[in-house]
Amino acid sequence: MDRIIRIEDLVFQYKREDQLEPVKAIDNVNISIKQGSFTAIIGKNGSGKSTLAKNINALLLPSSGAVYVKGLNTADETKLWEIRQIAGMVFQNPDNQLVSTIVEDDVAFGPENLGVEPAEIRRRVDASLYAVNMYDERKKAPHLLSGGQKQRIAIAGVIAMRPECIILDEPTAMLDPHGRYEVMEIIEKLHQDGITILLITHFMDEAAKAERVIVMDEGKVVLEGSPIEVFARAEDIKAINLDVPFAVELAHRLRKRNIYIPEHIINTEEMVDYIACRYK
Ligand code: ADP
Ligand code: MG
Repeated sequence: MDRIIRIEDLVFQYKREDQLEPVKAIDNVNISIKQGSFTAIIGKNGSGKSTLAKNINALLLPSSGAVYVKGLNTADETKLWEIRQIAGMVFQNPDNQLVSTIVEDDVAFGPENLGVEPAEIRRRVDASLYAVNMYDERKKAPHLLSGGQKQRIAIAGVIAMRPECIILDEPTAMLDPHGRYEVMEIIEKLHQDGITILLITHFMDEAAKAERVIVMDEGKVVLEGSPIEVFARAEDIKAINLDVPFAVELAHRLRKRNIYIPEHIINTEEMVDYIACRYK
């Protein structure tokens, strides 16, 4: 199947006793995600990103419209576990996602709950730990690890369930720069291995690494396209209180001084390569 996630006319309202009007967190959103693609979702706080992610994973169900994961309607209760196995989720706070006192037990938790047989669990745990470069730490206690390491264990726990898609909701927000780098490296590797990646982030340099960027504001999709297309619209991005990647800002300022920088340069590494080549 070509489209692993289809979101059709999605509206989601939080209903709260203490509020007269329900909060419309998602306001008529249509998105379709290609199998194997890497999409970043950006938007300021409160724009509806987490609500969207939870609707994909059936943690929340549409107020109206529909969400399909590999053709399965998230509103179909009988498909709940199948949907969560196909589309795994990684959250912001690694401490809230780790449940065991030993790393490898934590990674085994998901497949155990899926009823996978013990020998297969062992294989999956080892493979997942290798995939996130944490095999050597498998006997350690999670609370002794760094934030980046913990988040990689959380990712391993999801990979061990053999998902086709991983939704990561600001997975690097609580990490230091090194931890962020480690986690982004793993995310890019998983994408290369064919897993569909949906990365919610407020780091524009991370979004620049995706194949497609979706910009949300006030529950709506307001801009989407390749990172080059989206970040070329710097004025629109800034108008909704978001930044552009460092390299985009730098390119803009260099062009104002009449220094030519090609339009496709949006990543810091590309900028460094270009300048190094040109001014050698
Ligand atoms: P983001 O992840 O982009 O910061 P959220 O999806 O968390 O945005 O929130 C979208 C909107 O829904 C915001 O206005 C937020 O205040 C509201 N909201 C989020 N969670 C709840 C909740 N549990 N109850 C009521 N309103 C909520
Ligand atoms: Mg959020």
